Amino acid sequence: MEQSGLQRVAVLGGGVAGLSAAWKLAEAGVGVDLYEAAPVLGGMAGSMHRNGYIWDFGPHRFHSANPVIINTVKELLGDDLRGRQRKTRVYFMNRFFDYPLNASNLLTNLPKSVAALSLADFMLMKLRQKFKPAVDDSFESWVVNRFGRRLYDIYFGPYTAKVWGRDPKQLSASWAAQRVAVVDLWDLLLRVTKLRRGDNGFHHSEFKDDFWYPRYGIGQIADGLAERATAHGATLHTSARVTAVEHDGSAIRAVRYEMNGIEHIQECDAVVNTLPLPLLVKLLRPEPPAEVLAAANALDYRAMIFVFLEIDKPSVTQDHWVYFPDPQIVFNRISEMKNFSEDAVPSGKTSLTLEITCDVGDEIWNTPEDELLRRSIDELVACGLIERHQVLGHFFRRLRYAYPTYDIEFESKIGHMAYQLADYGNLVNAGRQALFRYVNTDHVMEMGFCAAEELLEGALGSRVERVGSEQVWFG
Ligand SMILES: Cc1cc2nc3c(=O)[nH]c(=O)nc-3n(C[C@H](O)[C@H](O)[C@H](O)COP(=O)(O)OP(=O)(O)OC[C@H]3O[C@@H](n4cnc5c(N)ncnc54)[C@H](O)[C@@H]3O)c2cc1C
Repeated sequence: MEQSGLQRVAVLGGGVAGLSAAWKLAEAGVGVDLYEAAPVLGGMAGSMHRNGYIWDFGPHRFHSANPVIINTVKELLGDDLRGRQRKTRVYFMNRFFDYPLNASNLLTNLPKSVAALSLADFMLMKLRQKFKPAVDDSFESWVVNRFGRRLYDIYFGPYTAKVWGRDPKQLSASWAAQRVAVVDLWDLLLRVTKLRRGDNGFHHSEFKDDFWYPRYGIGQIADGLAERATAHGATLHTSARVTAVEHDGSAIRAVRYEMNGIEHIQECDAVVNTLPLPLLVKLLRPEPPAEVLAAANALDYRAMIFVFLEIDKPSVTQDHWVYFPDPQIVFNRISEMKNFSEDAVPSGKTSLTLEITCDVGDEIWNTPEDELLRRSIDELVACGLIERHQVLGHFFRRLRYAYPTYDIEFESKIGHMAYQLADYGNLVNAGRQALFRYVNTDHVMEMGFCAAEELLEGALGSRVERVGSEQVWFG
């Protein structure tokens, strides 16, 4: 038995957060059982190998401000971790623009009338703000206050509505700084005229261009974590769906899971949960009060359909990924794995991953896959990216929980659930879906490590919650 007195910890979910926690707990001598519903580990940051191609769930570039995390991944992957220079663009108004947005590229590439009107509109807004200070009370106002109404209407608004399926008025302003890649139009203009250098207090420059990527797909990180966890004695159960989390009002006592059609029960001293927060709340037995369940049912995640295409062509773009804000185009982003790693495709070929965001049960979610495939290929052809006969093969995947949706009430919904979960003195939530936080792979690895530390030290607190909470651009 380990010093903390912990004998058996159940880790729910086998993505990067769960695997990181499992490794550190097992390394400290604790017995660990990890339960993953899918047949493979890695979760959203896993990779799939098919027909000589390697596929990620959309583009995954690895970067971190935390040297411990970078060094851990370097140690796990050795020479297979390669440095990359990010190249990304946006396709709108039938042309390509640099991304993150760059003022000279934006203003010279936009039709002259649109550029002039956008600039005039922005200047007028700046003038108005001298008399009436701007209020950031939604994603829409946050962006309009920094870029002007016209640029919002042609670019930010449609793209945001397309990705989130919500009017940006209904989305919270609180996360915009982490997800909009520039400060404001004024900053872009000062930079293009060389009147401003440096970061203007906007701390994103260290990640903006450089990132790390594993030779055989982002899933190599999860594979490395899983190897360490099992080497220290953790048991990683795959195809094991958690069906209930049993508690006595003050602590979690056991986990029920289903494997090969048989239900099992495992007692535990503590739990690291990386399952989506509302799912955990719904799995609690006895059930929590009705208002907590109502909050769980009201918390939204945006879903995603991936279309993976094998392409008979050496290259489609030089980009890691390209955004498509146009609402008429069904996908909102494409990525080309070959530009992340040459080893991700057979010689002479390339591949494309298309991301289609939607809500479970909406019109897109219910569209037959043949129809989505036809539309996707038609639109790629219309953008001049491929020819129809170059598509050699395809497959689909769906993610029920892809992005936490930050509507303007999300904090109060989370508050209800957090209040309930605080009753259990042996439960730590970690990871993107469990904390309802739009965080990256490096953050969830750090959260997994912190969750293990908190349990080992017997001091559950806010260490996990603090990871990735800084106001920097995550890209
Ligand atoms: C399109 C896209 C692009 C991204 N790009 C980047 C990027 O460029 N860089 C970056 O660093 N990050 C990126 N991310 C984020 C990154 O993928 C996540 O932060 C990370 O993978 C989250 O890991 P996690 O362990 O918290 O959650 P998950 O990977 O979701 O793990 C949770 C696991 O729980 C399992 N599970 C669910 N229900 C049950 C159940 N009942 N029983 C048992 N198991 C269950 C799931 O199958 C899953 O494996 C991207 C994500 C997406 C969707």
